Amino acid sequence: MCLTIPARVVSVSGKLADVLENGEERAIDISLLPRLKAGDWILHTVGLAIKKVSPKDAREIIELLESSRKVNNSSLSDKFKRILQASKVRELSREEISYLLQTDNPEEVNALHSEANTIRKAYLKEFICVHGIIEFSNICAKDCYYCGIRSESNVKRYRMSVSEVVSTAAKAAERGYKLLVLQSGEDSLFNDEELEEIVREIKRRSRVFIFLSIGERGYESYKRLRKAGASGVLLRFETSNSQLFKELHPEGKDLDNRFSHLSFLKELGYFIATGFMVGLPGQTIEDMANDILTLKNLNPGMASIGPFIPSPETPLSDKASGSTDMTLRVMAIIRLMMKNVRIPVTTAMETIGGAGMRKEGLMAGGNAMMFNLTPPRYRRLYQIYPDKFYQRDRRWERYALFQGKESYRMLEERLRP
Ligand code: SF4
Repeated sequence: MCLTIPARVVSVSGKLADVLENGEERAIDISLLPRLKAGDWILHTVGLAIKKVSPKDAREIIELLESSRKVNNSSLSDKFKRILQASKVRELSREEISYLLQTDNPEEVNALHSEANTIRKAYLKEFICVHGIIEFSNICAKDCYYCGIRSESNVKRYRMSVSEVVSTAAKAAERGYKLLVLQSGEDSLFNDEELEEIVREIKRRSRVFIFLSIGERGYESYKRLRKAGASGVLLRFETSNSQLFKELHPEGKDLDNRFSHLSFLKELGYFIATGFMVGLPGQTIEDMANDILTLKNLNPGMASIGPFIPSPETPLSDKASGSTDMTLRVMAIIRLMMKNVRIPVTTAMETIGGAGMRKEGLMAGGNAMMFNLTPPRYRRLYQIYPDKFYQRDRRWERYALFQGKESYRMLEERLRP
């Protein structure tokens, strides 16, 4: 679920050990690992040693999290340096954000990523979280122009049964996942009772946090689902440009309704994950700067940013993809402006850039990953865009998914709305 950078035990005294982490020494409770000795490597959380790892594993984790970036300060413009300084003490302006989005100086892009990585380390330490997504239905009543499972598209449809969703979630929890996103199209045939049953039954069987990514279902539905035990909602606003939003949603969705959902979801006590797409056809740099400012204003717990990817059989099929370079810049700027927000490396990033994007994303301020846990027979049918990336990384799973109430407690502390 969450990975911390390994620490080396320096000395042990009763139930406490002094450990060395990132060059700093600190005391850790080792009551769960009573046989630890000087020289051992551990993972720890909330002041408690959780797991002993071999020196080889410790090295591998450190490498996964280490940046090899070197910034050449002499190549940075005064304007860039002023903006970076300003980001430490105040909100960046639209014009400053636009500069960061547009600079064609590779050293400035490098320095932007590096600064974002430094902030992530300072504010979130090395907590890199691995969450799971279960796509339980690709049926959707809506017709968003960018989406491969829109109602007009000709894909084979599926809907997992309540018991399938629950058992998939239970298996994920057994493997150590502590946060699961249940995702579907806007499928009204899944009525509130069934969704409630799914949430309740998962919560009854497994100690996991449930996030819903089920679109605009209205206040009453979300109220019931919150009561049933759902903790968070993933609902992107996609673009803050209301005209562009209208053009992308022909069935009359409107941006105000999206924002009103985000507002009442917060009132209902949900942890909010929201964000936007990078590189939408018709989106300008100014739009993206506004998207970032809108996100900052919404102050969500998680910022979900992904590049636009054209999907066949959609009106945007011949448009160009958004770029990973721009998406990484956006993630890094968000990290500058929202020091504590969770930023996942999204599947769309991995689809365009491959598994290497995971590390790139983390080094640009990201601190979470989403692994697809949809049963294989359905996975290929949830084609919101083509060639969707599904690779789980066993190393991340091995290191970041550990069992135990401490793991749950660690996440609980970080999910307070
Ligand atoms: S983006 Fe969501 S609401 Fe829109 S068509 Fe796709 S699944 Fe449906």
